[in-house]
Amino acid sequence: MIDVDVAVIGGGPAGLAAALSAYRNGAKNVWLLERNPELGGILPQCIHDGFGNFIFKEMLTGPEYAQRYIDEVKKTGITVKLNTMVLEMGPERLIAVNPKDGLLDIKAKAIILAMGCRERTRPQILIPGYRPAGIYTAGVAQRYINMEGVMPGKKVVILGSGDVGLIMARRFTLEGAKVEGVYEIMSNPGGLTRNIVQCLNDYDIPLHLSHTIVNIKGKKRVEEVTVAQVDSQMTPIKSTKRDISCDTLLLSVGLIPENELSKMADVAMDPITGGPVVDEAMETSVSGIFACGNVAHVHDLVDDVSKAGETAGKGAAEHISDKIKKRKVPVIVKGGRNIRYVVPQIIRNEDFDKRITFYLRVNDVEEDVKLVLLSGEKLLYKRKENVVKPPEMVRLTLLSKFLENVGNELTIEAQK
Ligand SMILES: Cc1cc2nc3c(=O)[nH]c(=O)nc-3n(C[C@H](O)[C@H](O)[C@H](O)COP(=O)(O)OP(=O)(O)OC[C@H]3O[C@@H](n4cnc5c(N)ncnc54)[C@H](O)[C@@H]3O)c2cc1C
Repeated sequence: MIDVDVAVIGGGPAGLAAALSAYRNGAKNVWLLERNPELGGILPQCIHDGFGNFIFKEMLTGPEYAQRYIDEVKKTGITVKLNTMVLEMGPERLIAVNPKDGLLDIKAKAIILAMGCRERTRPQILIPGYRPAGIYTAGVAQRYINMEGVMPGKKVVILGSGDVGLIMARRFTLEGAKVEGVYEIMSNPGGLTRNIVQCLNDYDIPLHLSHTIVNIKGKKRVEEVTVAQVDSQMTPIKSTKRDISCDTLLLSVGLIPENELSKMADVAMDPITGGPVVDEAMETSVSGIFACGNVAHVHDLVDDVSKAGETAGKGAAEHISDKIKKRKVPVIVKGGRNIRYVVPQIIRNEDFDKRITFYLRVNDVEEDVKLVLLSGEKLLYKRKENVVKPPEMVRLTLLSKFLENVGNELTIEAQK
């Protein structure tokens, strides 16, 4: 058995930042385990710019952003294990495998989950029709074009308006393909406004809201899809059905945090985020297991992922040096009016950090709202927002001294 201080599972932006932060906060023997042959997670295939605006105050591409962290990791004594898949885990214990070492049985004083998320696929959204070739998730098509140098098709329809799909609408267009349109079942777009503008509007690619695909035709390769408008119950309206000729269907219908390992270790999960319940140090319900990045909840911006990684790394280092002091009464953080979820879901520590950042998403688009933080009836904090939208995560950073004498419950809500 190999003894380590901190084992980080996943070498994407969350894992890289977490490993660095654990090391810089005093953890001696830090291992970073990544199943891919390279570090960076999803970033090496994201060759567009738009990364690092907050942390580096620059617009970097995904590979450039990842490289800055990889270079920092190389300057430390962090052990990086590539091609290494973690297969099983429990508190303080991991089983991983790679072609060089074979099976690795690792005992870790703290574990950081940074496994990211995966894309939803066709079986998860149950589109009827044939099962021909030519149906890809947007991220897979991105990998084909940007990393393998292969064009998946020439006439493309995109289902779902998540950010990855929007970015790929532009990418296919730049490579000479015709993108027939983006079809979104909801009445509002699923991606960031900046991506709607820069990836669709700037290239005259139509976005059809309240539309879905009701059939896929073509036996060997996709030949046509049937689209239809949906009513307020999301039921397709028969009279609006029409066929669109295409050779490729891209799915951009949501991301799922990759938490099979977390569940194996009996980490409590939040049914809304799909990730572990975490406190302000990103520690899960299992002592010594931390989670950060898209495995905890799906983020829009990589800067927030790296920040969460830093917090988890510091938490793990403080856990093993016994610096974390738990509050006598933990504070449960709840989402009130028009709040879909809040992370962290619980505040448990004393003096962990001077600032606490809450990440939240709303249920519905609303203009001119106040985001308020309440302890019972008592107003602790308020901030005016011109508009809040479900695809755009909101950050609320407070000095932790505001939370010194609160009861055992906090509510964040959007008030009109
Ligand atoms: C197409 C696309 C475009 C984006 N565009 C932007 C943008 O313009 N600007 C921006 O700021 N953000 C953007 N993002 C968001 C940002 O890139 C992600 O939020 C970020 O990469 C998530 O980081 P992560 O480390 O949590 O996960 P990931 O990057 O997914 O990394 C997780 C890593 O964990 C590894 N792993 C998983 N399970 C195991 C296991 N069992 N054993 C070992 N390793 C494992 C995976 O191989 C992977 O390398 C984009 C994301 C995508 C997908």
